[in-house]
Amino acid sequence: MNAEAPPSPERSRFGFLHPADVRGVWNRRRQGVFAVLLLVYLLLPWLKIGGQQAVLLDIVHRRFTIFGLALWAHDAPKLFLLLAASAFALCFATALWGRVWCGYACPQTVFVTAVFRRIERAIEGNHLARLRLDGQRLSTEWLLKKALKWLAFLAVALVLAHSFLAYFVGTERLKVAVLQDPAANWTLFVAMVLITTFVLVDFAWMRERLCFTLCPYGRFQTVLMDRHSKAIVYDETRGEPRRGAPAAAGWAQGDCVACDRCVQVCPTGIDIRQGVQMECIACTACVDACDEVMVKLAKPKGLIRYDTEAGLAGEPHRTVRPRPALYLGLTAAFAGVLAALLVLRSDLDVVTFRAGGAPYQEIRAEGAEPLVTNHLRFDLTNRTARDLQVRIDVSDELRAQGMAVVTAANPVALPARKEVRADLFVKFPKARLDFGKTPARLTFTTGEGRVETVDLTLVGPYQ
Ligand code: SF4
Ligand code: SF4
Repeated sequence: MNAEAPPSPERSRFGFLHPADVRGVWNRRRQGVFAVLLLVYLLLPWLKIGGQQAVLLDIVHRRFTIFGLALWAHDAPKLFLLLAASAFALCFATALWGRVWCGYACPQTVFVTAVFRRIERAIEGNHLARLRLDGQRLSTEWLLKKALKWLAFLAVALVLAHSFLAYFVGTERLKVAVLQDPAANWTLFVAMVLITTFVLVDFAWMRERLCFTLCPYGRFQTVLMDRHSKAIVYDETRGEPRRGAPAAAGWAQGDCVACDRCVQVCPTGIDIRQGVQMECIACTACVDACDEVMVKLAKPKGLIRYDTEAGLAGEPHRTVRPRPALYLGLTAAFAGVLAALLVLRSDLDVVTFRAGGAPYQEIRAEGAEPLVTNHLRFDLTNRTARDLQVRIDVSDELRAQGMAVVTAANPVALPARKEVRADLFVKFPKARLDFGKTPARLTFTTGEGRVETVDLTLVGPYQ
């Protein structure tokens, strides 16, 4: 496979590919999917569940909300399981249907095809008009159309960048920030400028070149596929010898009339008749283009089609195979462990650590038993959508032995899906110390009666 962009008759002098427009059943299906995905991308940040943004990836506060499921930084193993399950699901889809992700759901394809190329076509015309315009010397028409196009690109890039930010900072904060002076939110403003620039460079300038120069998925997808994986293929047996090619004695002319429509519509500028190539993003444009030609020639459709290597060789198709089964099994395993962890996880998460400063303090009072205090700190996380009241105490047995918890507020108010830091002192008789240490068990009881316990070692003077 060749990683270099192959030469194409549809490439302008600026290196831009201008694929010809295509009509057909596959194109209609893709446009429908693109419309749904674009709507989801733009509207999802505005969707609320129980008064909270349905999808919010709050990196600054290390809190991630995904359709009511709240995860924090210490839930990193669950995030890993989610990513692993998604990655193996993609491997499974690739093993069965080839680069269906590239052709239908990759943001690169969706934004370039459904947004940026549409704008370009509306302003500069069809691919021939665009090629002519790019071939022109500086002219008023050239300047006007290019300026208008890049202004429209900029406007769209701004919308996409703001939508992207809404997933990370929340729509409420974004609405406020948009109306304020950029200096009041300069980190957000810089992020917005960087994302807008990225959108313009990637979707408006690089386009499909990113797919075969930078995208790692395109490079290893052949490893994920086998003879029975679907791909966009050219039926060489039926098509060759194509029109104009010398046919061996006794051979009938093939169905390919060498019209090159399949090459003209290809957004990556390849010729699918040369076999399955890394640059093919399975966009199906060549399938529609060739079917249109075949219909005009009153020949059966499908000279270029979704098929498998085995199918082209006349072998029966096998859906159940070791490779997809392995990927499906790994997807189910990771998803299963994740589901189990989520079902079994507690409503309350407690992380304990020592506050800074001296590890203990000794309290001596005339005529009273000497006491020792330890200053501790707790991060309490409410994983539920309900507000909780959390009472912190020591176990009954320790309380009977004179150990007690001292806090500014007990119970601690813990709002839904929020993390609260609590400071507390544990006070105990010095006599409990054994070589400067004593074990303790703290209990965290919610108003609903659920109890979390934390075992720790308290410290004091060695003697
Ligand atoms: S569109 Fe079909 S007939 Fe035309 S060149 Fe391509 S494969 Fe051949
Ligand atoms: S070869 Fe066909 S399916 Fe592949 S990228 Fe080109 S037009 Fe799309």
